[in-house]
Amino acid sequence: MTSRYDILFQPIKIGPVTAPNRFYQVPHCNGFGHRMPQGMAAMRGMKAEGGWGVVCTEETEIHHTSDLSPYFEGRIWSDDDIPTWQLMTDAVHKHGALAGIELTYNSHDAANLYSRAAAFGPRSMGITGGSGYEPGQSRAATKDDLKLVRKWHRNAAIRAKKAGFDIIYCYAAHNMTLAFHLMSKDNDRADEYGGSLENRTRFFRELIEDTKEAVGDTCAVAVRFAVDELLGGDGMQFDGEAHDIVAMLAELPDLWDVNLSNWANDSVTSRFGKEGHQEKYISFVKKLTTKPVVGVGRYTSPDSMASAIERGIMDMIGAARPSIADPFLPNKIKEGRTEDIRECIGCNICVTGDTRFVPIRCTQNPTMGEEWRRGWHPENISPKKSEDEILIVGAGPAGLEAARALGQRGYHVILTDARREAGGRVALESALPNLNEWRRVIDWRLTQINKIENIYFYPSSQMTAQDVLDAGAPHVILATGATWRRDGMGRNISRPVQGNGNIFTPDDLLGFNLESDSLLSKLREQAPALQKVLIYDDDHYYMGGVLAELLVQNGCEVTLMTPAPTISCWTQFTLEQERILKRLLDLNVTLLANHVIASHTPTTATVTNTITSAESTLACDAIVMVTDRIPNDALYHELKPALADGRLKSLRVIGDAEAPNIIAQAVFSGHLAAREFDEQVNPDVTPFKIER
Ligand code: ADP
Ligand code: SF4
Repeated sequence: MTSRYDILFQPIKIGPVTAPNRFYQVPHCNGFGHRMPQGMAAMRGMKAEGGWGVVCTEETEIHHTSDLSPYFEGRIWSDDDIPTWQLMTDAVHKHGALAGIELTYNSHDAANLYSRAAAFGPRSMGITGGSGYEPGQSRAATKDDLKLVRKWHRNAAIRAKKAGFDIIYCYAAHNMTLAFHLMSKDNDRADEYGGSLENRTRFFRELIEDTKEAVGDTCAVAVRFAVDELLGGDGMQFDGEAHDIVAMLAELPDLWDVNLSNWANDSVTSRFGKEGHQEKYISFVKKLTTKPVVGVGRYTSPDSMASAIERGIMDMIGAARPSIADPFLPNKIKEGRTEDIRECIGCNICVTGDTRFVPIRCTQNPTMGEEWRRGWHPENISPKKSEDEILIVGAGPAGLEAARALGQRGYHVILTDARREAGGRVALESALPNLNEWRRVIDWRLTQINKIENIYFYPSSQMTAQDVLDAGAPHVILATGATWRRDGMGRNISRPVQGNGNIFTPDDLLGFNLESDSLLSKLREQAPALQKVLIYDDDHYYMGGVLAELLVQNGCEVTLMTPAPTISCWTQFTLEQERILKRLLDLNVTLLANHVIASHTPTTATVTNTITSAESTLACDAIVMVTDRIPNDALYHELKPALADGRLKSLRVIGDAEAPNIIAQAVFSGHLAAREFDEQVNPDVTPFKIER
């Protein structure tokens, strides 16, 4: 049968190799890096199994003088690294996909904290890699240095070919690499590598030529090139020098993989950018070259993908996050199962694998990063071992995932929730400003649950311990969530904050329609004169900032205060912090770091500077405490005796009810409970394989 998506399954010739289809997993970091190659290889292999025609590595260091520590990226410094890369190329080839490697040399973006080598780049300047504020500088590269880098890159390409890679990258994107830095307008070197655009592009051209000469007989040579930095005239621009660079090098590489720089612009979260947001910047490239063009833009809809090809924006659909959320996305399209696609929600928890130096995690796909160490497959799960029935209380992300996965195993599952709507916190939080894509966590699970006959969902069913026992299921899983604290206690305050102020929590603010003024009128029931609101954020992720937006939209004057040195501190790891700050400043939110709340009255808050201990008083009509949450585990404690006396065969508490955390952790917790059900789990033994 023909389908409108057939175009996505056409083979694409890339230099001397041919990709089986147009699905291209572009290079992406994963936190495994050179430290955990088996985990990395199994994760990449899963994408190939799921139908991605090309599967690439992350940025891969070619030499110790460009060591990307403290991050764990790929590494191909010597022949000793070849066997670990063969793990990946074998895993990818097994399923008929091509394997690509992104070789990188990062000049002043390499902190070299491990190798202790002096980094070199276009000029001597402060190191931009590592934390971004490492105390040290690069040195200015000599022409001999540049020659050496060309040699190292060539040697790495030869090693990569030996390791079995089909596509070898020259990387000039994300404002991270020497080739990109040399192309910058700021490069005023007096030699033939600085000054004119031709001179500045010389090194990139040489890298491509060298690589083609070294391995181009059997390997395709791709470039990753950032066509815009969103810095206006201060940076690379798609309608400026990037256009001229692509025109100059048009037919030289075998493939153009083009995107936005820096990484925060390339991997923008759904809060700040929608599917296809890069099209405007990359569409010129295809007009200048006959070589295949790859672009990204968090495409999860096959219609958008087919349209991007048909409109001549790109030849292959590049994806990092959509391939993480659903390694089987291509196969699902091929099999006409588009409703089964586990769509990426654009939260960038996956990015925090890299930025927190741990194996990649994903909100939508709890098996991501667990392929090797736990042997988890995103589509398959072991069948049931008994006919026992399971009752799950709470249909938030944890309960929904546990029900779905247990249902997939074949168990008879009863899922209940007190609310009329499934989704728990996600149903409420996805109604907050610009978080609507987060609903996909619920939508995908409900779609699957509706297809599984042995799962029965009962909404509007508040359960007491007696109700649970009366239901008669021998196994009970409690996914009853958590409640935001009202007393200010959290990381920084261990005793309830005293006062008689008007205190609200996120739970009071969630679930209101932005368009209406009902939120303000509701809050004014408690605080009639409400105008000035102080948000005290000891949570440090998105909630404080999103609530500030919500309250400003509802006509409040907002101060966002945090004990941390920066506002929405943890969002630096999801690449969102700068955009959050810009949005808050644009909304005239007053930002106050390094302060804790000491006490409150109906019109004031006394706050303490965390550094000087100096106290001051802020005028505010209400305070929103975004601090710790209290697990809703009362039901668990009430039911424990029933486990002890044999009325229940098993009782487990999962998700936020066990330990409040991010949504990704709730989904993971639900999945883990489903996998471990009917299994003997020895608490003395680490439940996953460890790479040594
Ligand atoms: P998690 O993130 O762990 O999934 P959520 O807070 O998102 O937790 O979801 C918890 C869900 O559990 C909410 O939808 C809530 O209505 C439901 N719930 C809590 N207690 C009960 C109960 N006693 N009976 C039925 N549903 C409950
Ligand atoms: Fe998408 Fe979030 Fe998963 Fe990353 S973690 S792939 S952004 S759903």
